[in-house]
Amino acid sequence: MIPFNKPYSTGKETSYIKQALASGKISGNGFFTQKCHDWFKTNYGFKKSLLTTSCTDALEMAALLCDFEKGDEFIVPSYTFVSTVNAFMIHGGKPVFIDCLREHPCIDPLEIEKNISTKTKVIVIVHYAGISCDMNQIMNIAKRYNLLVVEDAAQAIDSYCTFNDKKQRLGTFGNFATFSFHETKNIISGEGGLLVVNDSRYESRAEIIWEKGTNRSAFFRGEIDKYGWVDLGSSYLPSEIIAAFLYSQLEHLEEIQSVRKLFWKNYYNLLSQNKDILSLFDLMKIPAYATNNAHMFYLVAKNSHHRDGLISFLKSKGILAVFHYQSLHLSTFYKQKYSGNNLPNTEIFSERLIRLPLYYELGSESIDFIVKTIEEYCIKTQST
Ligand SMILES: *Cc1c(COP(=O)(O)O)cnc(C)c1O
Repeated sequence: MIPFNKPYSTGKETSYIKQALASGKISGNGFFTQKCHDWFKTNYGFKKSLLTTSCTDALEMAALLCDFEKGDEFIVPSYTFVSTVNAFMIHGGKPVFIDCLREHPCIDPLEIEKNISTKTKVIVIVHYAGISCDMNQIMNIAKRYNLLVVEDAAQAIDSYCTFNDKKQRLGTFGNFATFSFHETKNIISGEGGLLVVNDSRYESRAEIIWEKGTNRSAFFRGEIDKYGWVDLGSSYLPSEIIAAFLYSQLEHLEEIQSVRKLFWKNYYNLLSQNKDILSLFDLMKIPAYATNNAHMFYLVAKNSHHRDGLISFLKSKGILAVFHYQSLHLSTFYKQKYSGNNLPNTEIFSERLIRLPLYYELGSESIDFIVKTIEEYCIKTQST
């Protein structure tokens, strides 16, 4: 059996967790949390990072920082995980769903601009599969209409966009950006996330929201002599046990990434030479401005019948491949409340995209077997 995903442990996690326990402090914002924040500052240039219990929570923090007033709208792709939308709706925003590009499931900048109204406050974007949205166009629109930008970079660790002719790291564009360390992502802590605050005007409020609406962080830095309740907030910070686990993953990020990228290339090389497969499936496309962080390998079937057919055929051979997002604008929850736009490209990816197994321990032999099995399906299907 080849699973779709398998969480990878670098081996150092348990010793760091033991070290946290031995230190006598395992609640949040301690030694390992600081180590993770420092890691992101040194290696990624993130000025203000706050570890969170999930990317969903980081998105909620971003939503609180956006400060929605009644009627305020946010622009968001329909082809995304529910949290990208829930987080902003819970905190008072009204979603305006936008279609993705035909060649890639990232949001279509032209559609963003068409749907901006006087009520629009925020553009929320998702770097799907760790492949950058078109940041040149999106940042230009945000500037012209004076809108906030939130990057849902849950899948986008270690990825870049060429911006003004220079490679710039994803997670550094928006006023806020969020990452996920859920077990299905490239680096993991079971559940876990990160809020990046790129706009310094929001740094201190972000810290307060993170610490349950108190100025406890400033107190511990010795900046004030007592701490208290100063704003809204919640418990968004993870325990030191999570941070200790994550720190070990960060230390091994380069190694994890090189293995994932190798497997991604293996898939690409084998599939791109296979005429039988290419007659029924398209390979994922990476725009010239984007880099690939090997978060995902997906195919897009030329029709939905082949997508579902391939999933069941692979399953019968012990390979778990899976589809992805159902269009949120067509969900029962949304349709009860709103009538929205028609989003044809989103619906195509909902019906036709298939993700292949990709994880650290997969191995090239499994990839050979998976590609052979896809070929078998294509030959069998074409001859009937
Ligand atoms: C995984 C994911 C999330 C949610 O992350 P959690 O850490 O599980 O809350 C949100 N958005 C996108 C695009 C994701 O892929």
